[in-house]
Amino acid sequence: MMQDCIFCKIVKKEIPAEIVYEDEHVMAFKDIHPAAPVHLLLIPKKHIPTFFDLADEDVSIIGRVQLAAARVARQLDLEEKGFRLVSNCKEDAGQLVFHIHYHLLGGRALQWPPG
Ligand code: IMP
Repeated sequence: MMQDCIFCKIVKKEIPAEIVYEDEHVMAFKDIHPAAPVHLLLIPKKHIPTFFDLADEDVSIIGRVQLAAARVARQLDLEEKGFRLVSNCKEDAGQLVFHIHYHLLGGRALQWPPG
C-alpha cells in the first residue's frame, strides 16, 4: 500500500467509493467522472504503479482483475452488447492515477479508435 495513492486509500476504505465488486485481490468501483452509462475502475489491491512495474508474480493478479471485469459486466447485464476494458499507461496515454487500473466502459456504443 502507498500512503498517498488515492486508489490505495479506496482499498483501505479511507475515502469513500461506490464499490461494486471486491475480493481478496481485486476491487471495482464507479469512476467519479463517468464517460459512459457504465464506467467502472477495476484495480488490483496491490499497489503497482504502471505495467512497467509488473513482476512475474503479478500475472495471476492481473488475470484476476480481468476475470472480475467479466463477472461484474455480466452482473450489469452487459454480456449481450459487451463492454470495453482499457488501461492508460503513463503520460501519452493520459494516466492520471499511478496505481494500475482498467476502465470498464459500457452501456452505449463506443467509438474506435479513441483519441
Ligand atoms: P486514468 O486517466 O486512466 O489514470 O484514469 C483515472 C480515473 O480515475 C479517471 O477516470 C478519474 O475520473 C478517476 N478517479 C480519480 N479519483 C477517483 C476517485 O476518488 N474515485 C473514483 N474515480 C476516481
